[in-house]
Amino acid sequence: MLLEELKKIDQSYLMQTYQRMDVAFERGEGSILYDLQGRDYIDFSSGIGVNSVGYGSERLANAILSQAQKMIHSSNLYYIRNQAFLAKRMVELCGENMNVFFANSGAEANEGMIKLARKYGEINFANKRYKIITLRSSFHGRTIATLKATGQESFHRYFAPFPDGFVIAEDLKDIYQKIDGETCAVMIELIQGEGGVHSLNQKEVQDLSLFLQENQILLLVDEVQSGIYRTGEFLASQVYKIKPDAVSLAKGLGGGVPIGAVMSRHKEVFSFGDHGSTFGGNFLSTRASLEVLDILEEEYKSGALQKKIALFDEELNALKLSSKIFGKKVGLGLMVGLELRDLQTQQNFIAQALKAGVIVLRSGKNIVRFLPPLTIKQDEIKQGFCRLRGVAQMLEREK
Ligand SMILES: *Cc1c(COP(=O)(O)O)cnc(C)c1O
Repeated sequence: MLLEELKKIDQSYLMQTYQRMDVAFERGEGSILYDLQGRDYIDFSSGIGVNSVGYGSERLANAILSQAQKMIHSSNLYYIRNQAFLAKRMVELCGENMNVFFANSGAEANEGMIKLARKYGEINFANKRYKIITLRSSFHGRTIATLKATGQESFHRYFAPFPDGFVIAEDLKDIYQKIDGETCAVMIELIQGEGGVHSLNQKEVQDLSLFLQENQILLLVDEVQSGIYRTGEFLASQVYKIKPDAVSLAKGLGGGVPIGAVMSRHKEVFSFGDHGSTFGGNFLSTRASLEVLDILEEEYKSGALQKKIALFDEELNALKLSSKIFGKKVGLGLMVGLELRDLQTQQNFIAQALKAGVIVLRSGKNIVRFLPPLTIKQDEIKQGFCRLRGVAQMLEREK
């Protein structure tokens, strides 16, 4: 099929909610994608942090195939072995006494986390605490509640009225000003994925965590993007050395199969009927996640992941130094970015990178974001950065 034909069908039959780039991918191998014409691209985006084990993984494909042949779905009216084992595995990887609820996306995981905080606030305090504080440049999802939790005003156009009880703080320090007797939780991303790959200050987060604990206010960490080894540990919370009351996960967890999860230390809050999901935690998605965790745990334990992070950082520094178009480096692990002069340079860089055969992402107003597969190989990293240096030189000459 030709791209032009595909574009016509897309535009006729799909709600036009995505401003797509001029390419359609057909298959992938490792961290390389091939488009309809067979052109290759080094993928530094992994489908926005989703394809954590890259493309064409035989292990993941075989796990999904053999599960699909046995059974894809039963419903949560019955016990589901893969779901129970995946929860056990995730809790062990956190090293905390938690339990898990499975959903199908990041927004849904956050919805579950918000409901958990609301019920916690209702059953533990005479005055029913219900307010949840979130940060200005956060992103928490596209449902009505998670949109309201998202602090960026541009997301709030058209969809009012929103549910009550979400309070926006300008930054970490401002959270203390916004807390009142009705606050049940604070919800943050440790590294703001959409809001500029901005890592919060570790000491400030640790202080906040202690303060909240002393005041019986929950710390909810949205790890939908930062979780599942993205920052070098299973959770970014482990890098930050904090123990959140609840964590939400999704993107990298299923290696491309939709799955989301909420994990919480407050095992007592939800009881029968409080929450549910038709598809959440079904045989297929939990089997895929078990395989993804197997693959990633091996990468982690063998030290391969740390080596990739170090090489990626080295190459990112070299790219930054190679051209005046770049400002500071941001992020953590394999969730990193480079600052560019402005929105226009950001758009140009991403478009030209695609033409040169590298997929990168935008974030915030002027950041180019890198979220490569966690299984990316050394030569793929080097090849990608080689192409990007060419792009940077070209853009610098144009200026
Ligand atoms: C992507 C993302 C979400 C939303 O996830 P969906 O699966 O698109 O609903 C929520 N929070 C963060 C931090 C994200 O990066």
